[in-house]
Amino acid sequence: MKIAVIGSGIAGLSACWYLGKEHEVTLIEKHALVGMDAHGTDLRSNGNHIRVDVPFRAFKRNYYPCLLDLYGEAGIEVRPVDYSFSLNYNDGTTYFGFSTLGIGNEFVPLPYLACFTNRKSRRIFSDAIRFYDESEKEFLSLGNEQLTISEFLRRFGYSQEFEDLYLIPMFSTINTCTSESAKNYPAEAVIGYHSQGLKFLRFLTPLKGTRDVTERLSTRASSVRLNTGPKKIVLEKDKVKLVFDKGDELFDRVVVAAPANQAIPILPDEYSKEKELLSRLKYEASEVVTHSDQKFMPKRKRHWAPMCFSLSEDKSSATATIFLNKVLPSMNGSAVFQTWNPLTEPENVISRSRFERPVIDLDCRKTLSDLKNLQDIPGKKVWLCGSYARYGIPLLEAGVSTSLDVKSWVDRSR
Ligand SMILES: Cc1cc2nc3c(=O)[nH]c(=O)nc-3n(C[C@H](O)[C@H](O)[C@H](O)COP(=O)(O)OP(=O)(O)OC[C@H]3O[C@@H](n4cnc5c(N)ncnc54)[C@H](O)[C@@H]3O)c2cc1C
Repeated sequence: MKIAVIGSGIAGLSACWYLGKEHEVTLIEKHALVGMDAHGTDLRSNGNHIRVDVPFRAFKRNYYPCLLDLYGEAGIEVRPVDYSFSLNYNDGTTYFGFSTLGIGNEFVPLPYLACFTNRKSRRIFSDAIRFYDESEKEFLSLGNEQLTISEFLRRFGYSQEFEDLYLIPMFSTINTCTSESAKNYPAEAVIGYHSQGLKFLRFLTPLKGTRDVTERLSTRASSVRLNTGPKKIVLEKDKVKLVFDKGDELFDRVVVAAPANQAIPILPDEYSKEKELLSRLKYEASEVVTHSDQKFMPKRKRHWAPMCFSLSEDKSSATATIFLNKVLPSMNGSAVFQTWNPLTEPENVISRSRFERPVIDLDCRKTLSDLKNLQDIPGKKVWLCGSYARYGIPLLEAGVSTSLDVKSWVDRSR
């Protein structure tokens, strides 16, 4: 069949990889580069050319089964990455953190001394250990009751320090959402991601960066069209028409792998129920700035971890700065950082990108289940996928797993 995949983030790329094995796939992206790599930036460090992924993405071995299968099948090599972290007040004082001891291919977490020097940090430490080890069991004891992560922490007696100075600042910056949205995340989603015991610092990243991912996953496309996107999808009798500025084109099937809020305007008129469900999803904007401004780092250089979190003065919001030299082995020149949602303006800016990210709350459970049921109805020729479409955290894994659903619907529609 002739299939169009609209959008080339991880969901579109993975749909292209799986459908491209048997079908003629056209991958369509409105950016000038394949979407997943569209914001990356090139720089020189000690005379070497380095492609820096924007955002720098990492994943855990046991939370990403679909992504790891995909990467394995496509020959995308991965490497462990030290993702240890420090948590800092606005003045650069570190109050919590882990360094790591590299043993073979693993990083064993070692708590900073700062975790024990005052009562607040000690409470965070003991609650963190408890959360990583026991929250899954605690959550299961709730039966069918659905709680936000904030309600869960109150219900099970976790300290306010653990919530306000540890879990929420980290979760809100990693998910580039406000603290309020982070508190309203379903407990199920947050716990599903975090309950990995002390293995929580074992992260992976593609060995050769995102460019290698996009190049390999798009090899199964018959054609990749950049700088373009359909204005509208129109259902015809046996075909689907894509309406472009420069003319129309017919396909047998269409996969819309654009974010929910960008998919709505192009969906066929007949997709009013899908549009209504998609319009219920909330998005929050975020900014990722790559720069060499050291003011985002902790006062003490020994606390310059790969990931440094910093609280705002009133402690109500946080920012995360990745110390790129620690996560990119080839970056051995002067220090370069990537800050997610900077609270103040960085100097020496190398690149700046804006993203929009879906925010998941308890209502999304029904919305996303209804969306999946609608897509499952036989007779369709247009389907949606994307990291927003799985109830949980909108990460790379959700993008791949929803594209696998689409593959099964396409197979069934033949
Ligand atoms: C700062 C930040 C850090 C992150 N870190 C991690 C991490 O460490 N680990 C992790 O797992 N995840 C991480 N994520 C999340 C992850 O990047 C996303 O979940 C994932 O990229 C979403 O993939 P997607 O394919 O669903 O959507 P997108 O990546 O948004 O791709 C959709 C594509 O569709 C294109 N498009 C839209 N409309 C049209 C149209 N009409 N025509 C043609 N093209 C169109 C867009 O240009 C875009 O390229 C991070 C996200 C951010 C913002």
